Amino acid sequence: MKNIQKNPIIIVVFTIIILCLLLYLKQGFSSGEKVGNGQTITKTGFALDTVVSVTVYDKKDEAAAAEAISLCSDFEDIFSRTKEGSMLWEFNNGAELPSSSELASVISSARYYSGISSGAFSITMGGVSSLYDFTGENNIPPDASLVTKALEHSGDDKIIITGDTLKLADSETKADLGAIAKGYIADRIKEYLESKGVRRGIIDLGGNILCFGGKPDGSNYNIGIQYPLKNSREYLCAISVNTASVVTSGVYERSFTYEGELYHHILNPETGLPVKNGLVSVTIVSDSSEKADALSTTCFVLGKEKGLELINSMEDTYAAFVDENLNIYYSDGFEALLSKAS
Ligand code: AMP
Ligand code: MG
Repeated sequence: MKNIQKNPIIIVVFTIIILCLLLYLKQGFSSGEKVGNGQTITKTGFALDTVVSVTVYDKKDEAAAAEAISLCSDFEDIFSRTKEGSMLWEFNNGAELPSSSELASVISSARYYSGISSGAFSITMGGVSSLYDFTGENNIPPDASLVTKALEHSGDDKIIITGDTLKLADSETKADLGAIAKGYIADRIKEYLESKGVRRGIIDLGGNILCFGGKPDGSNYNIGIQYPLKNSREYLCAISVNTASVVTSGVYERSFTYEGELYHHILNPETGLPVKNGLVSVTIVSDSSEKADALSTTCFVLGKEKGLELINSMEDTYAAFVDENLNIYYSDGFEALLSKAS
């Protein structure tokens, strides 16, 4: 012991080891960043009103993963309904939108889902949605007369398309892309990562999952489907996929209880009230995250029967409907995706 204390070389080596260890720990566990074993890199952040994370499996490209996170924030400048000056904010405040813009392309997709669901999917209910406060202290349902008034300004016919531009019919009509934008953004983030040579990864935008390429050992990803209760960390089941988007719409996400009644964020476009059809969640699996996102909301509003009929009419698209007794109803082909362990 005495020798060690006196030997300057041992002290220097010992100090270097401690410094390296501290540096490693800082790199590995500083907020929003995790450098895992082997080639896995995960970056997390807060954007799009939720926690976002990007895991890159095959390429130690921290810069690409970090850029993917910052792209999520950049997309707020287009799709945020509440960020002043965003493209959507400008559109909602009377600006004309070029039909060649990214925002117009997502609005056009949204109109498609509205068309195939006879209006169950409706992005023109921003005025109604904003009457509900699911995040703050004011957990009181809005006055029925306000809901009725806001509904008068919603409907696909409130989006006026003339020549190369789109415009909202009146100053009270507000578009809300909360049911489709995250999916669209996940698809774009995947494209970005692939352009950087990343072939395997998982993009998680607040539970809107898009995984691609499978794991480095060739096995599939196991994606858990959340138990449909508020703040639950348990999984109802898990599915095994190489490349797919898995998106769930549920009553547990943004909701409050008032006088024993549950109020949640998925609204019936006919009444402006939260959809009440016995479902608590709908999960969609599809190659396109935009499609999975739009269809999870669409199917939730359509309900089990019509939703299953719609999904069964589509190729390579699968759904699981969960009712309030936690019974699960699968579309054709979904059960084949279930992980063996679940
Ligand atoms: P999601 O979590 O993808 O099901 O999207 C729900 C969000 O979409 C809500 O928070 C609203 O912003 C919006 N929304 C609510 N009801 C509808 C509907 N019927 N069609 C389209 N968007 C909706
Ligand atoms: Mg959705």
